Amino acid sequence: MIKLKKNEAFKIFLLIFGMTFCNFLNAQSYETQFAKPLGQVLNEIGSRFDVQLKYDADTTEKVVPFADFRIRPYSVEESLTNVLSLFDYKYVKQGDKTYKIKVYEYPRRTPKDGEKMLAYLNTLYKDTVEWNARKECLKKDVREKLEIDPILAQRVNSKPILSKIRKYDGYSVQNFAIETLPGLYVCGSIYNPLSKGQHALILCPNGHWGGGRYNSDEQTRFGTLARMGATCVSYDLFGWGESEFQVTMTAHRTSEAQIIQIMNGLTILDYMLTRKDIDSKRVASNGGSGGGSQVVLLSVLDNRFTAACPTVSLASHFDGGCPCESGMPIQLACGGTNNAELMATFAPKPLRVISDGGDWTASVPTLEYPYLQRIYGFFDAVKNVSNVHLLNEKHDFGVNKRAAVYNFFIPILGLDKKMLDESKVTIEPELVMHSFGDNGEKMPVNAIREFKYVEKYFNKKANVQINSDIDLEKRAHSYVESLELNDKQKEIRVYNVIRTHMRAVRDWHNEHPYTTVPAGINPRTGEVLTNVYRDVIACSAKPASVHENLMNGLRKDLTEEQVEKILDFYTIGKLQFTLNGFKNIVPNMTEKEEAYVVSQLRLAREQAVDYKTMKGEISAIFEIYKDNCEKYFNDNGRNWHQMYKEYVAKLKAEKEAKKKAEENQDKK
Ligand code: ZN
Repeated sequence: MIKLKKNEAFKIFLLIFGMTFCNFLNAQSYETQFAKPLGQVLNEIGSRFDVQLKYDADTTEKVVPFADFRIRPYSVEESLTNVLSLFDYKYVKQGDKTYKIKVYEYPRRTPKDGEKMLAYLNTLYKDTVEWNARKECLKKDVREKLEIDPILAQRVNSKPILSKIRKYDGYSVQNFAIETLPGLYVCGSIYNPLSKGQHALILCPNGHWGGGRYNSDEQTRFGTLARMGATCVSYDLFGWGESEFQVTMTAHRTSEAQIIQIMNGLTILDYMLTRKDIDSKRVASNGGSGGGSQVVLLSVLDNRFTAACPTVSLASHFDGGCPCESGMPIQLACGGTNNAELMATFAPKPLRVISDGGDWTASVPTLEYPYLQRIYGFFDAVKNVSNVHLLNEKHDFGVNKRAAVYNFFIPILGLDKKMLDESKVTIEPELVMHSFGDNGEKMPVNAIREFKYVEKYFNKKANVQINSDIDLEKRAHSYVESLELNDKQKEIRVYNVIRTHMRAVRDWHNEHPYTTVPAGINPRTGEVLTNVYRDVIACSAKPASVHENLMNGLRKDLTEEQVEKILDFYTIGKLQFTLNGFKNIVPNMTEKEEAYVVSQLRLAREQAVDYKTMKGEISAIFEIYKDNCEKYFNDNGRNWHQMYKEYVAKLKAEKEAKKKAEENQDKK
């Protein structure tokens, strides 16, 4: 027998125990759900299908139940989907035999997804009329989803701080700083032609290029366009360049960055259009990558642009990965959209999309461009949209992309092609392009120096909510007070029931606009659904508990008479008002007839409390029950049409008589 030293025996014990433990984890049986660690499953998929897997997602401590059953021997991609979907992970195909495992990214989908989405969107409009309706919806909803208006409303209207002009070969550069929100500035440079007269304007939002707007590719483009006769305005991304002095770079990766950057663009446009040297009939925008995403949004939000050129950015399956591009849910507008459709709202104005084979814009020639051509076709303006696709190029703003920009703008903006010569442009050092000194030491006294002071401007939305809450609570209070319950506890309970219900109705209404309901046919009338009916449909989908909680809550503490009083408050006495109307129209209404009308109007009233707008939804619901009453009269020996006609005639006669009496009075 071999004698083991004590520690050797312990090692062997550990080995055996360890193996047993691992075997327990790996025991493939019904009882253990055939579970395996995620890392192991992926390794096995890798070797089984002979593919390389790269990781941009954490696989540790993650277990896949029924692991091997999820593997489909005929498809590596199906196997990966079956396994990864458990963790909200996905794969991205990177080469013939390489896949990257990534966490779910809401702004990034696949070209296949883009293809399906565009095909779906194409079914929504087949002509100019339908397209214009969709466009109107998008323009409105994007504004709302971007929450830009409350921010635009807070802007100050101060004069820009302008630097000395630096003259170069055929153009000049001048720095500017414009105060947008109180204490917040956007800095940039204006590249001006040296030629006299009014110039075309090109707004040039920046992408995330190294060095931002100081990047030499950027400066070259602005200088060259200025030499040819276009005033170019380049400005910092929020949190980049001189904005970094105010809010630091971390502020860039926030949803506010998207709103602020668009506000900056619109504010600069406002200022530039006050200048006498700018021709408001020639206003374009051009930007690459993230700057291209801004071009799309600016075009949707402001009709003053007459030409647009998004560069290496536009795709139907990628919204832009930075929060400054996709931090606000604009892509959810009107039931779901994408940058290709948003850009299409620019039709029929001149548009050029520049794309390349080395980034997500590789799909433009086969997906986005044909889609845009179709929309431009609605306006008989296919010639106004073009795509320059640089198959062998990558994601940058290199010389060929710039050439495509120049060639687009020269005819459209009437630029002087003879002046096209990039070698004449002077690349300025960054510090020369600063308005606020090397380190921001020249910032105005009122300048914000911390992001949190910017954030306070965004609390307006919270204020709107608070104001709405206050208003709603006042109403709930007045309802309860008028019941004179003389029981504090009871009052509080009833008040809470009403307040909870009112909030639920309001929130559902605000979160489910009529645009969430397709514009279909009203089955009752065969006519196209009005927006009010679409509103009613959207709001009628709220959980039944909203209504039940109100009615049960009220009935717990109130008499039936008091409950009715509350329902009358909600509907501003519409039951009595409508009943009086019927009594006026129907001569000698019988008790039986009145009972029927009241029963119908009671149903209307109880339904109507779950809707928000008095003129729209609540009236629409009463209309349904009024129709029932009219039918009842017709079915029971009366002629509604005749009664109504006589009533109108009677009213008219009374009016005439009154008028005559007044005239006689005047004569006297
Ligand atoms: Zn960004």
